[in-house]
Amino acid sequence: MRLILLGPPGAGKGTQAKHLVDRYGLVHLSTGDILRAAANTSAGARAREIMARGDLVPDELVVEIVAERIDEPDATAGFVLDGFPRTVPQAEALDRLLDEKGFALDAVIELQVDEGVLLKRIETRVADMTARGEPLRADDNPESLRQRLAAYRAQTAPLVEFYARKGTLRTVDGMALIPAVTRAIDRILDAVAGTPSRAAR
Ligand code: AMP
Repeated sequence: MRLILLGPPGAGKGTQAKHLVDRYGLVHLSTGDILRAAANTSAGARAREIMARGDLVPDELVVEIVAERIDEPDATAGFVLDGFPRTVPQAEALDRLLDEKGFALDAVIELQVDEGVLLKRIETRVADMTARGEPLRADDNPESLRQRLAAYRAQTAPLVEFYARKGTLRTVDGMALIPAVTRAIDRILDAVAGTPSRAAR
């Protein structure tokens, strides 16, 4: 199964991706995680400042990361993309990558959330991490969060229409409690799994 989780920062993409890894054995491909892990490499250093501001790193960089990761053997069984694509050119590049391999996306799941509540969610995450003594992300502050939301609105939200036109978009109420969101996603994927893979056409 090949999936995309779409939604603004704090929508719960990471939480739901972990569930999908457990349930379907998918690889969790978070471009944000990969970029943070690469912070000490030259490519990562270039991205670090951009990320701290809450802006998007260049398309070529993330497309290269995804192209390499989905080529690894463990990803052949399927993956869930979390935080990618974030722009229309990234989505078009992903289409090309998948076409080359004869793969198709099974679903794009949009977690629809109230932006006003997101700040609160991130504040809670920051408080939890601080209480556990974990280091905070450089972009977990109100200023960067505002910029991350602005980037989502301007550059990523158009993907809702992009995937709706392709017929792969499924929307879930991301404001529901975590287990209810998980159940809603499972119902969608059960229905998707019951239909022949479009890659087999
Ligand atoms: P995330 O962990 O998904 O919230 O991503 C953290 C930051 O990494 C974002 O605010 C961007 O600066 C950068 N980033 C992650 N994924 C992408 C992407 N697909 N395109 C551009 N920038 C990205």
